[in-house]
Amino acid sequence: MQNIEINGNLDISHEFDIQDMVSKFEECFRDFYFDKIQKIAERYPQERSLVVDFEHIERTSLELAKILLDDPDRALECAQRALKNIDIPLTDAELTLRIRNLPEEVRMNDIRSELVGKLVQFRGVVRRISEVRPKVIEAVFRCSRCKNEVIKVQKGTFLDVPNYCEYCKKGSYFKFLEKKSKYVDSQRISVQESPEYLRGGEMPKLLDVYLTRDLCGIVSPGDKVKVIGIVRSVINRTKGKKLSVFNIMIEGNYIEHEEPEIDVFDITKEDEKIILELSKDEHIFEKLKNSIAPHIHGYEPIKEAIVLQLMSAPPTELPNGQKIRGDIHILLIGDPSTGKSDILTSVADEVAPKGLYTSGKGASQAGLTVAVVRNEQGEWTLEAGAMVLADRGIACLDELDKMKAEDRSAIHEALEQQHVSVAKAGIIATLNARCSVLAAANPKDSRFDETEDLSSQFNLPPTILSRFDLIFCMRDDLSKTKEITKHILDTASAPVVAAPVIDPTILKKYVVYAKKNVHPKLTRKARDKIEEFFTKVREEAEKNPSFPIPMTVRQLWAIIRLSMASARVRLSDEVLEEDVERAIKLIKESLNEVGIDVERKVWDIDRIVGIPKSTRDKMKCIRKIIEELEIEGEDKRVKVDDIIKIAGKEHKIQKDEVLEILKKMLEGGEIYNPSEAYVRRVQ
Ligand SMILES: [Zn+2]
Repeated sequence: MQNIEINGNLDISHEFDIQDMVSKFEECFRDFYFDKIQKIAERYPQERSLVVDFEHIERTSLELAKILLDDPDRALECAQRALKNIDIPLTDAELTLRIRNLPEEVRMNDIRSELVGKLVQFRGVVRRISEVRPKVIEAVFRCSRCKNEVIKVQKGTFLDVPNYCEYCKKGSYFKFLEKKSKYVDSQRISVQESPEYLRGGEMPKLLDVYLTRDLCGIVSPGDKVKVIGIVRSVINRTKGKKLSVFNIMIEGNYIEHEEPEIDVFDITKEDEKIILELSKDEHIFEKLKNSIAPHIHGYEPIKEAIVLQLMSAPPTELPNGQKIRGDIHILLIGDPSTGKSDILTSVADEVAPKGLYTSGKGASQAGLTVAVVRNEQGEWTLEAGAMVLADRGIACLDELDKMKAEDRSAIHEALEQQHVSVAKAGIIATLNARCSVLAAANPKDSRFDETEDLSSQFNLPPTILSRFDLIFCMRDDLSKTKEITKHILDTASAPVVAAPVIDPTILKKYVVYAKKNVHPKLTRKARDKIEEFFTKVREEAEKNPSFPIPMTVRQLWAIIRLSMASARVRLSDEVLEEDVERAIKLIKESLNEVGIDVERKVWDIDRIVGIPKSTRDKMKCIRKIIEELEIEGEDKRVKVDDIIKIAGKEHKIQKDEVLEILKKMLEGGEIYNPSEAYVRRVQ
């Protein structure tokens, strides 16, 4: 390892002695990396690592390869010496040796104390990264008595200060000489087991990986990575006292990015045969639907919608470069104990090839999107939330109405543009969040009031509601008690009743196969059908502007996405009329729930969200001010102070009131804070 002190007496219990190891490494480098080393030396210091494939070490000496895995500290030390023996044009170039491609991989959950000191390789997703900070590797100190300077090599987390002076031959006080000491870049990242590797319901393990030198600053939260490193146990400290329980962390030796595509499912020729056969089954839709949360009775349209969500549509790129998502977002709003959470966990754990379940309250600080938080070491870190971690999968977000204030504004961008941006404490980043969202929320007073209009009881602002392709209400329906009781009793007495129709592994492979190989296009007839429906709904919606979800092209895209997903179920590249019909049926169900009665063309005028008129008028005023300032302002950001000034001067609205209204608009997702002193309208 790069920071290991050379103490010259590395006695080794293996048959190999130090000299053997050094010369074997030399042989390996000369055989496989001679040209590469010369090239690195030419490019030094832009390039400063030699990445060695484990296979080449194995080919040189099996014994050496074995020692490298068992005792990497010593082996790497010898390798580092061997590297010095090779003629390099630059004499004081400090190359770091990095190893890739270990023969075996461990699961993060299996990294325990018995692996301490060993070289391991594992995969995961980066959840948190700290700032890149200098770490002292050779600290220079000055003795306060004799003023002599001493160098002390630093290995641990804490600065190792000498207390005995070699020159005075007695104890002394030493001053750390910042400028004379030698530093390298260092960064702490946290890696979490990637959702697709978790076995049903397992808690993901989180490990800190300590990176130095050129490994710093190369990964972002949400990145899928392969890490090679040495397992270390680190002392736990509470209030300066050492605890007897140690933490495990990884000293990173090499880190590489992995393709974000789902690649854990190895689809064999045999699987392909089963998948193709299933796709020709005329009951394929039913079969898939009945494989989703089979232990929960009913909710046919919801399960059908989830089948389409699993398949999703390919994203569309517009001529101007703008990308329209192909992922389908579904929201379930429902009474307690109607099985919302069950459906969500079932999708995340059992049917989605990559699914992640979390609650809006969120166990992690990053919540649903992203956050800049201080870690235990007091460093600012950028932490990925659920939607970033679920990139290219499905994020199942329970209790969406309870999400944090920061998420409320950030989630708009995440749902529509499929990335999240953050700018805080000097950290500026944009992270991918290309996932479908299956969310659940409670009604306003935690239960639907039958005497009141449904849509006025949604506990989420219209701007968020409108990002969902489909919204369903789940009511605790007393009339269905008998049916539900029977299903539960049947399930309990003979679990076979609730067994999924299609084996979950095959179902996952079916989804992966469809997404990879099928890219549906609209046929002429399908186009006409969509056009006809959308025009009709749009006309209806225009008659009632108070409708909780403005009817816009968003809904048109929803129909297109659902139709394409439906074609994917049949593994067909052509979207047919029947696919559009299925999409329209679901959209109608959803629209009926939120208030539009497409069939009867009836509009309920009472669906206005309850804000007093005086406030509504002031809100209108502020909205206008923002719109006007936006034109002058660069990047459409508007300074809060300017709004307060104009509101006070021209409309006699007090500062407190302005702030109160802005807060309401922020909560409502109408505006967001690109930075503290500014607001910006959500477009
Ligand atoms: Zn001294």
